[in-house]
Amino acid sequence: MKCPFCSSLENRVIDSRLSREGDVTRRRRTCAKCERRFTTYERVEEIMPLVVKKDGRREAYDRMKVITGLKKACEKRPVSITTIEEVADRIEQFLQNRGEKEIAGAVIGEEVMRQLYDLDKVAYVRFASVYRSFQDLDAFMQELKELVDGRGNRRVQPPRRRSEPPTRERSRARD
Ligand SMILES: [Zn+2]
Repeated sequence: MKCPFCSSLENRVIDSRLSREGDVTRRRRTCAKCERRFTTYERVEEIMPLVVKKDGRREAYDRMKVITGLKKACEKRPVSITTIEEVADRIEQFLQNRGEKEIAGAVIGEEVMRQLYDLDKVAYVRFASVYRSFQDLDAFMQELKELVDGRGNRRVQPPRRRSEPPTRERSRARD
């Protein structure tokens, strides 16, 4: 994303919101070089890889689906909607950074788990317990709706990422 004033490619997102229709993300950015602010409008399906479903069908990445999943997992937890949107932003950033045109739905699910693990352990366990048994975003979303909170005292294990982009550093210890 080029700065319209100085053409620098380095900038920081300071605010990010989704259009009412859910297909355009408006981002306020600050240029790292000249420090001026500008706004970008990104159409999600144009910049996100296609999602390959379990049965092999492809569909457009759906931010609302991810947000809904996060909201369900974070129900009655001290997590604001702003935080949830930031998590969705990070997930999208991760998916974009892979630089692939298509991405398995399972990779998205795993990244959601990773983000939730850092955010809120209860939300993570809720999400992970349902997700792991499904491995399919749609079926699992359905199940998540019916999930009651906080039951069981399952051991909380950090999620593992099946593949890591080479540029990214790992700060957490591996198991
Ligand atoms: Zn600039």
